[in-house]
Amino acid sequence: MQTWIPANREFSYLTWKQVDALSRDTLLVIPTAAIEQHGHHLPLATDTLINNLLLGKALAKLPAEAPVFALPPVCYGKSNEHIGFPGTLSVSASTFMAVLRDLGASIKASGFKRVVLFNTHGGNTALDDVMARDLRAEFDLQTFCIFGSAGAKFTGLNPQEARYGFHAGELETAFLLSATPELVHPGEYTANYIAHIDNPSFLVPENGPATFAWLTCDIAESGVLGDPTPATAENGARWVDEASTQIAKALEAILNHKPV
Ligand SMILES: [Zn+2]
Repeated sequence: MQTWIPANREFSYLTWKQVDALSRDTLLVIPTAAIEQHGHHLPLATDTLINNLLLGKALAKLPAEAPVFALPPVCYGKSNEHIGFPGTLSVSASTFMAVLRDLGASIKASGFKRVVLFNTHGGNTALDDVMARDLRAEFDLQTFCIFGSAGAKFTGLNPQEARYGFHAGELETAFLLSATPELVHPGEYTANYIAHIDNPSFLVPENGPATFAWLTCDIAESGVLGDPTPATAENGARWVDEASTQIAKALEAILNHKPV
């Protein structure tokens, strides 16, 4: 798969002797993403491509001497909200967590102490949080989580899309229009929203007083939760820059973190 990770930050390009020579304080980033349906217009690998794009651009913004490497991504995520759409390749929560646990064991055995879980698929978020604490407790690793754009504010993204453009909407479409336009099918756009900001409810899909568990097939026959129609490559390039700047800041904060 295409990569934007700078070659000098790609952990798997090193020999074991080169790894052995690294500082034990080196920060190792484990990307977690998904291979799952993204509507009629985006590829299955969308979350994995975006992960790699944002992380690669963020790593390029770090000072050359910053001790940070990216591990190859855990591409298969917990995507059972998209089951029923051909091409979705999901692993169970227990499998996903077991993979992260075993990677943590290997990282510990290699002598490293600091791990970041960088996630770009919402279905993995709760599991990354659980595993960050488990890796801390079981292997005494300092563990950190960064999700998506690390809180970047996307200038020009309308509030409805910012709040409820969960999947294959304007943001993800714009990212890929800027980076891999050949993988986007603009003639195939569809739009669906799971909720509307102008119709607030006590019961919301996520982050509210009461939530409901949703499956994409309950809401959107096409698989889209958002509106890709306004997406442009120009906005996408700016949003990649805004997100990668924010992720680089998060990585620098982690690098400067001193355990109590
Ligand atoms: Zn996605």
